[in-house]
Amino acid sequence: MEIIKDDIHRGRFKAAIFDFDGTISLIRAGWQDVMYPYFVEVLAETPQAESQEQLERVVRDFVDFLTGKQTIYQCMQLVEEVEKRGGVPLTPLEYKHEYLRRLWEQIEHRVHGLEDGSIERETMLVPGSVELLQELKKRGLTLYLASGTDEPYVLHEAAVLGVADFFDGGIYGALERYEDFSKEKVIQEIIKGHDLAGEELLGFGDGYVEIENVKAVGGYAVGVASDEIHQKGINEWKRERLTKAGADLIIPDYRGLSELITYLFPPEE
Ligand SMILES: [Mg+2]
Repeated sequence: MEIIKDDIHRGRFKAAIFDFDGTISLIRAGWQDVMYPYFVEVLAETPQAESQEQLERVVRDFVDFLTGKQTIYQCMQLVEEVEKRGGVPLTPLEYKHEYLRRLWEQIEHRVHGLEDGSIERETMLVPGSVELLQELKKRGLTLYLASGTDEPYVLHEAAVLGVADFFDGGIYGALERYEDFSKEKVIQEIIKGHDLAGEELLGFGDGYVEIENVKAVGGYAVGVASDEIHQKGINEWKRERLTKAGADLIIPDYRGLSELITYLFPPEE
C-alpha cells in the first residue's frame, strides 16, 4: 500500500464506485495484445503508412491514452488515423465489432470455464475482491460498478464471477448510444441521487479516467495498479498513470485487506 496523499478526510464513505476490468475482473486481461496488433494492421494498409515500428508506437500511444473510456473512442481515433494517412476508414462501430470478435476468441474459454465451473472464480478475480466487497457492504456502503466495456458483457461477466449481487447501486457499462454513458455521468447520478458530499464517495480503479472522475467531485480515489498477467505485485506503468491522475492511494490488489480497511476507515477519535 502506497499512500500518495495522507491529508484527506476518510471514513465517512457512504458509496463506492468500482471499475470492472483490471479492478475486479481479470477475464479481459491481455486485451491490449488484441487491440494493438489489429489497429496496426489497419493502419499498415493505408497509402501513407509509416514503418511497422512507428505505427506500433502511434497505436500504443492513443490506445493507452483513451483506456478507461468506452472502446468506441479508441475506434473513433483509429478512423482519424486512417484518414490522416490517406485511407478510407470503416466506421468506428465496424472496427469495434471486429476488435470484439478477435478479443472474444481469446477470452471465450475463460467465460465458458466460469459458466461450467471448470475454471475457479478466484483465478479470474483481482485477489481479495470478494472480501473487499463484503467488507464494504458490512459497513453499509452502496456499491456501484461502471465499466467502459459493453453493458451486456459486464452484466454477464459480473454474474459468472459471482460478484453481481454486491452492486446494489447498479451495474453500468458502455451503450450502443455511447453518448448516454460515461463514468462521469454515473458518478454525477450517485452524488445527486444520494445527496452525497464528495468525501462520502470512494472510488476504485486501474485506469486514469475513473480516478480523475472521482477526484473531480472531491471523492477518495484508490488506484489499483494490478498486474493482470502475473497477478502479483505492482504494474509500474499503471502506478505512474494512476498517480498522475490524482490517486490518493495505490495498491496492487486487495490482499492486504485489513491494512487497507483500517486506513480507509480510521477509528473515530
Ligand atoms: Mg480497468
